Amino acid sequence: MGGTSPLGHLAKGAHFNAGPSMADMIPIPGFADPFSSLSHLLGAVLFAGLTVPLVRRGAGNAGRVASLLVFCFGAVFLLSISGVYHLLDPNGTARLVLRRLDHAAIFVLIASSFTPVHVILFRGWSRWGVLLVIWAIAITGITLKSIFFDLVPPYLGLMLYLGMGWIGLGTGVALWRRYGFKFMQCILWGGLAYSIGGVLEILRWPVLIPGVFQSHEIFHVAVLLGLGFHWTFVYQIADGKTPLEPLASHSEDC
Ligand SMILES: [Zn+2]
Repeated sequence: MGGTSPLGHLAKGAHFNAGPSMADMIPIPGFADPFSSLSHLLGAVLFAGLTVPLVRRGAGNAGRVASLLVFCFGAVFLLSISGVYHLLDPNGTARLVLRRLDHAAIFVLIASSFTPVHVILFRGWSRWGVLLVIWAIAITGITLKSIFFDLVPPYLGLMLYLGMGWIGLGTGVALWRRYGFKFMQCILWGGLAYSIGGVLEILRWPVLIPGVFQSHEIFHVAVLLGLGFHWTFVYQIADGKTPLEPLASHSEDC
């Protein structure tokens, strides 16, 4: 994948590793990229397990539970596809297929992270209108990435990811103004974790242990952190007891 700009690498190949693949460095049978694979496979198991307390907390309203299940599905879907992708032989056909799926799954994860937040904390246009826009962008991205992967110009995928991120900034600001910083801070920390991980991935820096632990491995940790913060926020609101008006004083912590 030489010759394109760093931005092109993010849009075209979120799974770009600078330098030699880890498969060349530490041959663990069955694992092409051991850290990247194991981190997201274990993450998939963890977030699948976390579905239980989240749905239990949301019990009592079908729409709320459905929105929580969408979020859990998005998380487990991305992590398991990413984990399997990094298992596979870098030169095999299966890896190329999984790479398309992996990029598509990023859209699923972003849209599914919005879903319980807007279902539970918003009403009217800011509930269904925003979700309609978010899922329309996601479905566009999924279609482009899974069917027209090689035809999509690198900047287009990046623009779609960024566009969804900016809408998320709007969500965060709206909740900040309504409830204060303390209430919404997990959304911010999660967004920052994803963003910092994404920027390091674009810069392909730092290379802590060449071929073993570098920007892409840090990106995987950042994804797990971002997801953890967003899961914590969703858990906080999952019981549906957050009043839809501004809170006079809110004691819940991140
Ligand atoms: Zn990866």
